[in-house]
Amino acid sequence: MKRHTLLAVTFIAAALVVSSAQGQGQGRGGGGGGSSTAYLLKPAAVFDGETMHEGWAVAVRGSRIEAVGPAASIAAPAGAETIDLPGTTLMPGMIEAHSHVLLHAYNETPWNDQVLKEPEALRVARAVNHLRATVEAGFTTIRDLGTEGAGYADVGLKQAVNQGIIPGPRMLVVTKAIVATGTYAPKGFSTEWTMPQGAEEADGQTLVKVVRDQAGHGADWIKVYGDYRAGPNGETMPTFSQEEMSLIVTTARSIGRPVVVHSSTPEGMRRAVMAGAETIEHGDGGTAEIFKLMADRGVALCPTLAAGDATTQYGGWKKGVDPEPAGIRRKRDSFALALSQGVTIASGSDVGVFPHGDNARELELMVAYGMTPAKALAAATSVNARVLHLENQIGRVAQGLQADLVVVTGDPTKDIAATKRVQLVLKAGTIVKRVK
Ligand SMILES: [Zn+2]
Repeated sequence: MKRHTLLAVTFIAAALVVSSAQGQGQGRGGGGGGSSTAYLLKPAAVFDGETMHEGWAVAVRGSRIEAVGPAASIAAPAGAETIDLPGTTLMPGMIEAHSHVLLHAYNETPWNDQVLKEPEALRVARAVNHLRATVEAGFTTIRDLGTEGAGYADVGLKQAVNQGIIPGPRMLVVTKAIVATGTYAPKGFSTEWTMPQGAEEADGQTLVKVVRDQAGHGADWIKVYGDYRAGPNGETMPTFSQEEMSLIVTTARSIGRPVVVHSSTPEGMRRAVMAGAETIEHGDGGTAEIFKLMADRGVALCPTLAAGDATTQYGGWKKGVDPEPAGIRRKRDSFALALSQGVTIASGSDVGVFPHGDNARELELMVAYGMTPAKALAAATSVNARVLHLENQIGRVAQGLQADLVVVTGDPTKDIAATKRVQLVLKAGTIVKRVK
């Protein structure tokens, strides 16, 4: 990412070091006594975040990767447990760049009912399960993009994970997210009632206060809805003006928070890019010109392919039986156009629309829509780490980085579905899932 501020990098990197240190101190089953755990992991191959290496091994000591390379050259750390993993690939812990742990699948309960009828305690209880499912699926870091009516609950959940109270991935959070007044949802109720909204409304100069307030409550990123179904007939139209969008980014950036913008219209995307947003979510209506602008400005796209795939099926599409609906074909074309213009693709699925722990659907769809498996794996590891300013901590299997590692059966660079066959997960050197 070309346009980040140094301040943002420093802030997030510092936060991550603190959280991993806490996680290490209170990890489960660590044996105690202050002696650090160590492992020698011997898979068939290592995907390092960019390429495959047959016959490599990885040494882990404490929270970090001590060594990685050809198995014959890697000595077991003193007191290490050697884990033979034949037929597997070891890769970096996957990163989900667009989740909603406070939502559950929309075919279980519609979004409106989740926001209006489910008490926050119920939603937090579900989220505890969602976080466990996520990390056990090999996603060791998430950027959670809005609580959708559950206030600042993401901040408390992040603390619970960092303090070792519940298992879960590293979390970057945005708290309530920001929408322009009157543009968001729930909508369509009697005009006598003021309905609670799924995000915080703000406009004009008030945006300065709301950005700072959300950051003060713990937002690592500032999430903004740059367009929504706000047109006179429910058409998706840009919400914030260019001036408002620029005010948001300037305010956020000066306190070290990058900005992520939900947008799917060309004009909404253009305003976000020109303001200095770092990632754009969905992007369905992107034109060649807009995608080129994103590529030139180093703005990443989170295509959230899995969300549309899920909601279209909830709407009655029998995938694999019925022909592909127009919406799915448009999304395929849009994704192909973004790839052709050289846009950085971040792997973000909008999980919460569909079940947590199924995050790898996004990787499968990126491949189904034209990416190579190796590029999709990179998007979910090394590329996402860079986009989230965490590349000095996670996202690659490299000496000195955090030992966030996933071992899957088979070769995911040939068969992306291997990412669903998780055998072993380590987060900061602590085993969080082990099959058999
Ligand atoms: Zn979302």
